[in-house]
Amino acid sequence: MSFKELGLIDPLLRAVKEQGYTTPTPIQKQAIPLILEGKDVLAGAQTGTGKTAGFTLPLLQILGDKAPQKGKRRVRVLVLTPTRELAAQVAESIKTYGKYLPFTSTVIFGGVGINPQISTLRKGVDIVIATPGRLLDLENQRAIDLSHVECFVLDEADRMLDMGFVHDIKKVLALLPKKRQNLLFSATFSDDIKKLADKLLNSPTLIEVARRNTASEQVEQIIYPVDKAKKRELMVHLIKTNNWKQVLIFTRTKHGANRLSEQLNKNKINAAAIHGNKSQGARTKALADFKAGAVRVLVATDIAARGIDIDQLPHVVNFELPNVPEDYVHRIGRTGRAGREGEAASLVCVDEHELLRNIEKLIKKKIPKIIVEGFRPDPTIEAEPIQNGRGRARPKSSAPKQTNDGSKSRRQNSRRRR
Ligand code: AMP
Repeated sequence: MSFKELGLIDPLLRAVKEQGYTTPTPIQKQAIPLILEGKDVLAGAQTGTGKTAGFTLPLLQILGDKAPQKGKRRVRVLVLTPTRELAAQVAESIKTYGKYLPFTSTVIFGGVGINPQISTLRKGVDIVIATPGRLLDLENQRAIDLSHVECFVLDEADRMLDMGFVHDIKKVLALLPKKRQNLLFSATFSDDIKKLADKLLNSPTLIEVARRNTASEQVEQIIYPVDKAKKRELMVHLIKTNNWKQVLIFTRTKHGANRLSEQLNKNKINAAAIHGNKSQGARTKALADFKAGAVRVLVATDIAARGIDIDQLPHVVNFELPNVPEDYVHRIGRTGRAGREGEAASLVCVDEHELLRNIEKLIKKKIPKIIVEGFRPDPTIEAEPIQNGRGRARPKSSAPKQTNDGSKSRRQNSRRRR
């Protein structure tokens, strides 16, 4: 099936062709016709499936279908995303796919000056891509009018809830007109997502591409058992011996990201860290250097890395496993995208065995282990409770309660035997 057969108009087909896409991805095949019909859609799709084009292409077409407005442009499409990076990427997709259409778009997020955003909005735009906090600030200042929104998109809804945006989302919903088209994209479907979908969507059509909670099958997953104290050394060893060129590494804390990036640089592996303490400018630069190949390793915390979209990202490494198993699926979704193969490695120490079990339960698969010569874990070291330290609230359901069988208290009492 071609993009043309999906019913897309010529200006969009031209833009898609320029991107080099020949066939629509599964999510695009399903989503595009439904959205063009004006249906509400609940889509289960991870980053890397082509979901962004899946909603931006039909929305651009719908804008053109309706009679042109007289006078100042009004915000007709609103896309909410959890992070600035994702907002910027969606905005870029809209610019790319909409380059032969007359619509204007702008991206709104915090951490940068508000005045340029106010003046852009004052001139009038058709499409706004925003993170919730700044959008609400602008609304409070009466700098944006959302009462003419025809289509509302909630992208990476599960992540939005994880980041505590549920109240902001509700506030935004209250500002929108009752009659509108709604699209909700989420990689996972927790009960909270289902509740939100019930509130937001009007007899939605459910489409799902990757099986629910299933790690992308194109990704080869490997566990490297290692002691905590030797993780940084093993990281250097893996990058050097395998000659990994473009590696995204996840750490649990900002501090951990800095320390690892420093150690890699000391070992002549060009690395940069991105996390919430860095300015937007520094984050954008690190990402651009990484994409251009000037930086070989990007070390990131979950929030900072969210939505990073890089084609053919060959290696994703979990320097530490995430506390929430769904985050593992999100993280490894950065590799093996759009039909290409990728590799996801996880460095796992004894403290993380419980987390690993939970991940394997979620993805319904045992991940193969490789012990690297010289890094065999010391069997006499006992598990210690994991320090979270990432300074953000987690939903109750994913609080670091490791098991229901009392092993938490065992962990808390544990210590090194020697
Ligand atoms: P997304 O899931 O939206 O983050 O998209 C993942 C990547 O797939 C992006 O880098 C897109 O440029 C790419 N992509 C989207 N649609 C297609 C397609 N039909 N064929 C090939 N690549 C695509």
